[in-house]
Amino acid sequence: MIVGTRKAIAEIQAMIRGYDRILIAGCDTCVAECAAGGRKEVAELAAALQLAFCQAGETKEVQEISVDRQCIHEFLLDVVEAGEKVDAVLSIACGAGVQALAARLPKTPVFPGLNTLFIGETSERGVWQENCRGCGDCMLAVTGGICPVSRCAKSLFNGPCGGASNGMCEINISKKLDPPVPCAWQQIYERLQALDQMDAFMKIVPPKDWSQGEQPRRVIRPDQQS
Ligand code: SF4
Ligand code: SF4
Repeated sequence: MIVGTRKAIAEIQAMIRGYDRILIAGCDTCVAECAAGGRKEVAELAAALQLAFCQAGETKEVQEISVDRQCIHEFLLDVVEAGEKVDAVLSIACGAGVQALAARLPKTPVFPGLNTLFIGETSERGVWQENCRGCGDCMLAVTGGICPVSRCAKSLFNGPCGGASNGMCEINISKKLDPPVPCAWQQIYERLQALDQMDAFMKIVPPKDWSQGEQPRRVIRPDQQS
């Protein structure tokens, strides 16, 4: 899922200050799972903004809507219809959702209410962990299904750096992380051992071609190409 976190109320307030009728648009998939942009968070943000504008002596009409997936056009019919009737939309979907919605609302400004962070999973209650950076050349087959690009603090490809202590990454000390993060390479080692795949651990992985990450990437299925 895509993980994001809500922008500060003051930043959001500054973005939408010049508009009277505002629609807050949530997305009930990824950003709902990380408690940042789902239906519940739409209601909370609407209340917080009403209070903030009220304290500033300003009156705004704040409407609420939430859709199943803001990044897919077929799910946007209702929010587009509602967005055409307001002065501005505040989307609390991920950046992909904000852009998909903006593309369907040529006359209504669409502002981002979240900071989109990464592709990840819920590792424990209230903790979301980055699991993928969309590097375009997945190597999970040789790392036991654990991503060294995103989960090793140095994105190392050929084993640990030597800084790990008791199975934990040395980044915990300098960054004072709480909860601390494990050494991804220790996890990869243990996983490959459990799978009896230690031959994969011994293979030298060549450097990645990071140039693939320097341009907007798209995936086009061959049967969809004209
Ligand atoms: S190697 Fe990691 S960053 Fe690259 S695609 Fe696979 S999971 Fe994502
Ligand atoms: S301690 Fe482990 S996870 Fe941390 S940077 Fe070194 S190899 Fe990567």
